[in-house]
Amino acid sequence: MSIPYGRQHVTQKDIDAVVETLKHDFLTQGPKIAEFEEKFAQYVGAKYAVALSNGTAALHLCALALGVEQGTKVITTPITFAASANCVRYCGGEVFFADIDPKTALIDLEKIENLLQAHPKGTFAGIIPVDFMGLPVDLEKVRALADEYGLWIIEDACHAPGGYFIDSKGEKQTCGNGAYADLAIFSFHPVKHIACGEGGMITTNRKDLYDKLQLLRTHGITKNPDLLHENHGGWYYEMQTLGYNYRMPDILAALGISQLERAEAGLQRRQAIAARYDEAFRNSKVCFFQYPKAQIKHAYHLYVIQVEDRKGLYDYLRTHQIFAQVHYIPVHTLPYYQSLGYQKGAMPEAENYYAHALSLPMYPTLTEAEQDFVIEKVLEFCG
Ligand SMILES: *Cc1c(COP(=O)(O)O)cnc(C)c1O
Repeated sequence: MSIPYGRQHVTQKDIDAVVETLKHDFLTQGPKIAEFEEKFAQYVGAKYAVALSNGTAALHLCALALGVEQGTKVITTPITFAASANCVRYCGGEVFFADIDPKTALIDLEKIENLLQAHPKGTFAGIIPVDFMGLPVDLEKVRALADEYGLWIIEDACHAPGGYFIDSKGEKQTCGNGAYADLAIFSFHPVKHIACGEGGMITTNRKDLYDKLQLLRTHGITKNPDLLHENHGGWYYEMQTLGYNYRMPDILAALGISQLERAEAGLQRRQAIAARYDEAFRNSKVCFFQYPKAQIKHAYHLYVIQVEDRKGLYDYLRTHQIFAQVHYIPVHTLPYYQSLGYQKGAMPEAENYYAHALSLPMYPTLTEAEQDFVIEKVLEFCG
């Protein structure tokens, strides 16, 4: 029996939904896409949603839609998947990292502010905060800073579908609802909450961006009579901007719709698993992230612990067929980013976090017996 850190859950109902689409006319973008977009937008509480081929494509189109180009300066966190920063590079922009808050492992607002204050106003165009682990960033506070400095916000919510924070007005702000961020992105990679194989989604409340994204998703081509400059007949289309083929197939949207129906149940299961880990590690040398439970719903894509001898524990767990993982190697220390001049040592909190972090198994189908085995082995090693 081997226990991974994450695992998708595909039911017979999911399989039936996929098979059903194969009997219809649309294999790529068709009616299932529109349905998935509508249901996903409703789930997170946003006005619009755009389904895409994967989360990285979603980030790329967000950067394009917001006008990132050669030299555009954008701030993000070093503790994230590389794609959160790469999307800026795809457009020729320049990435600035703001170090994390060690109490949450999320981007530190003070560090963002320091960065903004250290440069003339107008230097930066935007911020990409990440709801890392599934812990929602306080976007109300990020928005206040963004407004002061005229920045846009792309929320990388890949880890956090269904998570929320309560804002200063006492209102529940679901990740990706577009209340404070201009755009938010999600991924349907198998290890994420909703598994499509590959897939991504952008959510927004901004109609102007929604229109741009739809164009960018399919080569910059439109057939919409309202948008055409000329019209030669029924066949006529115009390529109005340089776009891509970032479409999601209808086959995968059917899987996404079926998975979305179980999202809330999966989230509850993740919370129960986290509560059992918290309880087991409470009086041990294993550190875990705490957060104000009344203010925040943590979506628990990951359950990260911090231990003295991380490599020792990682190797020890593997000898027992427990495949824990590390999220993430700080992006600024990856060889590509170092080749651009980013230095090791520049983000001490992120680097210290990385030295001790380990993600334990966390997925809805993890059984209590499996979890107990993981806990036993972790405590055995850590004492
Ligand atoms: C998974 C992930 C992405 C990229 O999503 P893909 O669908 O794999 O391209 C981006 N950001 C974060 C934080 C992720 O976890």
